[in-house]
Amino acid sequence: MNNLNINNWIIKHNLETLDYYSESETIFAQANGYFGTRGTLEEGCSQEIEGTFVNAFYDTEEIVYGEAAYGYAKNRQTQLLVPNSKTIYISIDGEVLDVEKSIIENHSRELDLKTGIINRSLKWRTNTGKEVLINTERLISMEYENLMAINLSLKPLNFSGEINIKSGIKRDKLNDIDENDPRVSGELKYSLNIYDKYCEKDLIIAKSKTNNSNLGLITSIINKVDNVIDREIEKSDESTDNNIYESINIKVVENEVCNLTKYCYYYFDKQDRLENEIDHKIKDFRELCKNNYGYYKESQEKYYNKFWENSDIVIDGDNEIQAAIRFNIFHLIQSVGKNGKTNIAAKGLTGDGYEGHYFWDTETYVIPHFIYTNPDIAKKLLEYRYSILSKAKDRAKEMSYKGALYPWRTICGEESSAYYPAGTAQIHINADIMYSIKKYYEVTEDLEFMISKGFEMLLETSRFYADYSDYIEGRGYCINGVTGPDEYCALVNNNTYTNMMVRYQLKFLVDFIESLKANDKKLYNDILSKFNVKIKEIKLFEDIYKNMYIHYDEEKGLIGQDDAFLNKKVWDFKNTPKENYPLLLNYHPMVIYKHQVIKQADLILSMLLIPENFTYEEKKANFDYYEKVTTHDSSLSECIHGIIANELGYEDMSYKFFENTVKTDLYDLHNNVKNGVHIASMAGSWQCIVFGFGGMRQIDGVLHFNPRLCDKFNKIEFKIRFKGRVIKVSIERDKTDYQLVSGKNITIVNNGEVIELVKLF
Ligand code: BGC
Repeated sequence: MNNLNINNWIIKHNLETLDYYSESETIFAQANGYFGTRGTLEEGCSQEIEGTFVNAFYDTEEIVYGEAAYGYAKNRQTQLLVPNSKTIYISIDGEVLDVEKSIIENHSRELDLKTGIINRSLKWRTNTGKEVLINTERLISMEYENLMAINLSLKPLNFSGEINIKSGIKRDKLNDIDENDPRVSGELKYSLNIYDKYCEKDLIIAKSKTNNSNLGLITSIINKVDNVIDREIEKSDESTDNNIYESINIKVVENEVCNLTKYCYYYFDKQDRLENEIDHKIKDFRELCKNNYGYYKESQEKYYNKFWENSDIVIDGDNEIQAAIRFNIFHLIQSVGKNGKTNIAAKGLTGDGYEGHYFWDTETYVIPHFIYTNPDIAKKLLEYRYSILSKAKDRAKEMSYKGALYPWRTICGEESSAYYPAGTAQIHINADIMYSIKKYYEVTEDLEFMISKGFEMLLETSRFYADYSDYIEGRGYCINGVTGPDEYCALVNNNTYTNMMVRYQLKFLVDFIESLKANDKKLYNDILSKFNVKIKEIKLFEDIYKNMYIHYDEEKGLIGQDDAFLNKKVWDFKNTPKENYPLLLNYHPMVIYKHQVIKQADLILSMLLIPENFTYEEKKANFDYYEKVTTHDSSLSECIHGIIANELGYEDMSYKFFENTVKTDLYDLHNNVKNGVHIASMAGSWQCIVFGFGGMRQIDGVLHFNPRLCDKFNKIEFKIRFKGRVIKVSIERDKTDYQLVSGKNITIVNNGEVIELVKLF
């Protein structure tokens, strides 16, 4: 975006023109995992796509199918736009500041990735010649999850007198829609309903509730301001826009700064519980307002200092990429739910693309980042999956299978995908979650988690697979009629990614049971009896993983992405105009599905997740083939191809994929950043560094590195947490240093050579 200036930790936005304005709202979105708000201006503007979201605050609506069938997802779930509490209007002599009409100079804002604070400044000259410097700072507290604080300062340059500030809660927008793009969202019949709004001394509160999901939300603000002349409440009608403001006249003195601190508070719960909690929550909010803005600024600095200490990636040799990777990591920590009841949506809390749903993006793309940098957060994400296990069991039952089947896309735990061929049929979601449980367990050795939650998820999802797979004479266990990660091939037989992941999961389950038996007989007996696991069932799991069918085409010397893929006609790439990509927006599924054309990393992803399944030659032969028929129409694709390209020594290709991944959002490479960031690809850019340039793989609980830095960089540094240690990795083109920052000595493997890392100080 040409009006962004990116320098190390600071992203500066020149607001003198409003080009790319709605895109910049996504870039300047702030969040803390509990709630988030887009970077709209306090006074708004005509181009804005306002959005404030509370993680997992959603409503449902019945999905109306033209032609329904048994077991289709019943309800849509949509994360709702909640009231906008940022709103502040400033007026002088009745003239209201309006970025599109007013005479404004030096208008810009900066996002500081070290604190998450946005600082905006401008000089406004009114039609009567009065000049005022305006500065706002905005933060969403990482420490106090319900709180946003805005500090507005006004400095009149050539007058003393009165300024009016109207600060309140605004509710006049509906979720953004785009009927032609399934990645945005369709129209919701109902929006959030504000049923009460009032003022209690200096506190303003709006209460709202959803129509069907039985959730209630309070949005509250307190304005603290210097030099008040008078203040009054203005409410607008429910039938129109349903806003509530405090209009405050303040006295200002030439060249003196006058401050307003606006505290904003969001809290939600089940509607029936909320009413009883309101008094307590108001008290909590009033307590928070006793601290001044500086207190929250400091708390923010402390939080981020600690965060970057573990999570920063230093890139020597390219400033743009340095800033982009930090920006991506910053959005991951902002968006991720940290309370075990919420997760991370495909667009984070930055826009309403994909309706705020959680996908496999979490486990396959985001969790690896957190496992190795903030394992407590990874655990919370997995606890969320545990919290919806009973719904996954209901779903399996509804579909006539044993065990548990996790939903392809969801907020509350129920399946919400109306298009089952590219939704429910992606049963690999179970194995993706189990894969990350295995990695989490290996990295943290958190047996307590495994016993209290992990084992049950692992067992129930394995029961599903055991029931779903069919033993076919001459082939072995087959998993038919499913969709793999590549959504351009649907309802296929034996998607290799799925079969390999299921095989891996079942082996993990059997090995885990064996290790319990060997190490703690009582626990072994207790757990088997608690979940009614018989030896016969364990034998079946073992039989399946040992005899899982993998489709290999002898003649072509390739692994099939599925049974039929290699026998289809190859897509006519040469005659497909650029503007026809992504194909999903321009061709009917029946055109796409009958061709060899791939949306995103599928078989190539298995090479990253289970590298021990492939020889180097197999990786090379299959990568060379599959890369040519992959469109990368999904932003989840290039990062994975980049990592494997690096492993195979395709330096330029690997760099290109990495660059496209790391810059996806900051440079709006998919032309849709206005709908929100691409969380999976942001996390994918972290993977490109650690798994790509660092060549890190975790095999049988041991870390292996095969570093390979491209010539664009002089050095890359990152830290990894592993089994209670912190390891700092510094990669240069001709050498890699590993430093054990904390924890006991540990053995790792560097380019095939076993080395012991020893703590020096
Ligand atoms: C991809 C899915 C992904 C979803 C949400 C789709 O375009 O094909 O793999 O889970 O986006 O990011």
